[in-house]
Amino acid sequence: MGHVRVRFAPSPTGPLHIGGARTALYNFMFARSMGGHFILRVDDTDKARSSQESLENILTGLQWLGIDWDEGPGKGGDFGPYFQSERMDRYQECVDRLLEENKAYRCFCSPERIQEGRERMQKACGLAMYDRSCRNLSPEEVQAKLAQGIPFTVRFAIQGEGKVQLQDQIKGLVEVDLRQMDDWVMLRADGSPLYNLCSAIDDADMEITHIIRGEEHFMNGVKQMLLLQALGKDVPEFAHLPLILGKNGKKLSKRMAQTNLLDYRDQGYPAEALVNFFTLLGWGFDAEREIFSVEEAIGRFRLKDVGKSGSILDEDKLAWMCGMYIRKQSREDFLRNVTPWIVKEGLASEEEIEGAKEWFANILACDQERVRKYEEIPSKISHYFKNNLEYDKKAWKNLTKSEEIPGLLKAWLESLHSLRLPGSWPRRPVEADTQVLLPTDKEAPTPSGGVFSSPKELEDAARAVAEAKGVGFGKMVHPIRAALTGTTMGPSLFDIVYLLGKEKVETRILSALKAL
Ligand code: GLU
Repeated sequence: MGHVRVRFAPSPTGPLHIGGARTALYNFMFARSMGGHFILRVDDTDKARSSQESLENILTGLQWLGIDWDEGPGKGGDFGPYFQSERMDRYQECVDRLLEENKAYRCFCSPERIQEGRERMQKACGLAMYDRSCRNLSPEEVQAKLAQGIPFTVRFAIQGEGKVQLQDQIKGLVEVDLRQMDDWVMLRADGSPLYNLCSAIDDADMEITHIIRGEEHFMNGVKQMLLLQALGKDVPEFAHLPLILGKNGKKLSKRMAQTNLLDYRDQGYPAEALVNFFTLLGWGFDAEREIFSVEEAIGRFRLKDVGKSGSILDEDKLAWMCGMYIRKQSREDFLRNVTPWIVKEGLASEEEIEGAKEWFANILACDQERVRKYEEIPSKISHYFKNNLEYDKKAWKNLTKSEEIPGLLKAWLESLHSLRLPGSWPRRPVEADTQVLLPTDKEAPTPSGGVFSSPKELEDAARAVAEAKGVGFGKMVHPIRAALTGTTMGPSLFDIVYLLGKEKVETRILSALKAL
């Protein structure tokens, strides 16, 4: 096999979706696995529906996923232009040649006439096809119609009546009955070329060796093959990827199918997780492993291993996978990744985060294992930033459950005086007291050179208070958590106490006492 060249050929008529992203990814992986070239071609012949905005969305989406092309927009290459709108003359040239060789013909039928013919065909042979009535017009008849200015389209003339075979790299050998194929339109009445024409010619001109795309294009593959054969060109290999199905095994819901890929980015899904997930839509790494990097996938990717049957898109699995990727991030990376969300929610500015990196990394570390997308973070950490806390229903219930709670809270607060708690963000100078955080047995140095109590020490102290008061530890921690966070769930309470800092802990316990 010669040098592999594959292409992703989106139409910029809307945003990049899951289906397109998977097609692009498979082309990219195949090209990389074969040491070939990955070309990005823009199928923008539909002027009315194409937009710059869609194009930018597609390019941004691919870049976000790390799907990098070798030739195409922004990259150039020897086979350009890479926009179909700039290749119009080439399509006309091919159509002219086909007309001359009687492999295509002008169709002067009005839409009504075509419809009538279809109905007749339907009755006669059960196939609602164009009845080919213009196919046998004599050259004189054609000239006469042209002279009258009757508008025409140009149709491809399907040759023969037998069966054609298409050897698909994924689907295997497929036979198609030529009698069931319409003499499809290549040029519209306004002279504009249609997809199958442009696509096949570009694939040939760009020396594409493999066409990898969605199953829905299979019949287009047959048309393109016939066209290329009629033009005496090499036909690329075809590989039609299995359909992406919803969890119920049925058609993917419109909501999922039409989700703008960049919405995932904007909600804070890690790009690597999506790439991993998309890779699994039709291909498997091995029997066990579900989490792998794109480089690892490229190392093993073979077209023949792509599944034939539809692949199920499971949103729960996507969420799980995102969570797994988030867990794997270093604290520094996680902080960097969620910073835009913290800033957007107005919890802190970039400068503030930069100035108290360790503290932020620590409050985030408490929730890193609990989130599946970055967007979930602000609501989990917002309580650290509030001056006035509101209690949710359950938290209030925990605070009001028994009469002894105010006494317990007071006793706990007093016990803190003998401990050294870091100051609260952002009022204190942060550097010195936030270096070693979430110590369980280690202690963090204080600005004055002493050491802060560790979360472990804070927990021990609280246990001692509970014991002294003769209550179970649970009775003690639930109201404290409610008073400090306004909620009933979250990371380890004494990590929170430690990170919340002295002033906020005090204020919150006092406010709770007041509220009670
Ligand atoms: N522009 C076509 C699409 O977006 C390309 C299909 C193909 O890969 O040939 O569906």
